[in-house]
Amino acid sequence: MKLLQEKLSRYDAPQRAKAAGIYPYFRPISSEQNTEVLMNGRKVLMFGSNSYMGLTNHPKVIEAAVAATKKYGTGMAGSPFLNGTLDIHKQLEARLAEYVGKEDCMLYSTGFGVNLGVVSTLTGREDYVILDEQDHASIIEGRRLSFSNYLKYRHNDMASLETQLKKCDPDKVKLIVTDGVFSMEGDVANLPEIVRLAKQYNASVMVDEAHGIGVFGEGGRGTCNHFGVTDDVDLIMGTFSKSFASLGGFIATDKEVTNYLRHNSRAYIFTASITPASTAAVNAALDIMIAEPERQTHLWDITNYALEQFRAMGCEIGNTSTPIIPLFIRDDYKTFHVTHDLLEEGVFVNPVVTPAVAPQDTLIRYSLMATHTKEQVTRSIEAIEKVFKKYDIIH
Ligand code: PMP
Repeated sequence: MKLLQEKLSRYDAPQRAKAAGIYPYFRPISSEQNTEVLMNGRKVLMFGSNSYMGLTNHPKVIEAAVAATKKYGTGMAGSPFLNGTLDIHKQLEARLAEYVGKEDCMLYSTGFGVNLGVVSTLTGREDYVILDEQDHASIIEGRRLSFSNYLKYRHNDMASLETQLKKCDPDKVKLIVTDGVFSMEGDVANLPEIVRLAKQYNASVMVDEAHGIGVFGEGGRGTCNHFGVTDDVDLIMGTFSKSFASLGGFIATDKEVTNYLRHNSRAYIFTASITPASTAAVNAALDIMIAEPERQTHLWDITNYALEQFRAMGCEIGNTSTPIIPLFIRDDYKTFHVTHDLLEEGVFVNPVVTPAVAPQDTLIRYSLMATHTKEQVTRSIEAIEKVFKKYDIIH
């Protein structure tokens, strides 16, 4: 057998889960991404979506995407650097820069590409990238591609961050990158303290607002706005694949930085720009987020309701206070079984197992949308209670 095939044949974890009938990935959905989705001809409650504002099927968002497709076609067939810049790309950049409170903004084709392209381009061999140990994978890959010195601090632990800052050469670039809301466990970064330490040690700060936009801040502007630290944060990153109900991402920062990135970021230059439909959908979603603050209010109402219910049931939910609720199971196979049984009960949730987290930290990631009704939340929690009791997770 060739060495490559031999190596890959040792990777049998998915096969074992499939053989046990509890493989939890790539489960096809045959409807729009809404609070209820169609799977195998059955309606299932969706509590595994990142569409926090619930806008992926909003008529105005769909209409905007259709109109842009009719006007500009289906694809850009080129990089923003060359033939792939549209007037609506420039308009959205200007609008997003103003929305989050920065001088300029650039669109990337995915949120993953933003982190990869920005972190790897702004830092180099002599510099330091300082990351929270629970930062998103795309940030970690960006650091790797930069060849910079990697310093990691304990999750949201500011003493640990300071210890890492003290290790840096004072004359070299230091970039602290953190998720605003952590993607798996739903807790919020201590941004006031991060920006204070950054000033003290002359470091720059980048915040990933993937899960903060829509949810936190005035008009859903994110965690930087919520904490009043927008001016102290050098780079604000966002993705369109969550509250913005689309696909793509952005970096908002000073013009000097965007000028450098536009001409040097390979993940920006050497890939096609986002489609007209995706661009127009973000613009329409932003209109709705600003015009309908009641969506954000309702999301927080049902979030607080669900948090109360899970705590009362005796579930272990870590330090979350957001629509991302981790339900700790602490065993890979039990997590697969629970995910499987919950789908049988009509509830879709996501399993988070090794290697994404340590084996003792496995969890079910339960996430809320502004379009969920309280009745849907109650139904899902009743199903979770039943399945968790079956597996002795709660008593
Ligand atoms: N950052 C964070 C914190 C994320 O959770 C994600 C997606 N899960 C990304 C970046 C990547 O975003 P996208 O889906 O747009 O590639």
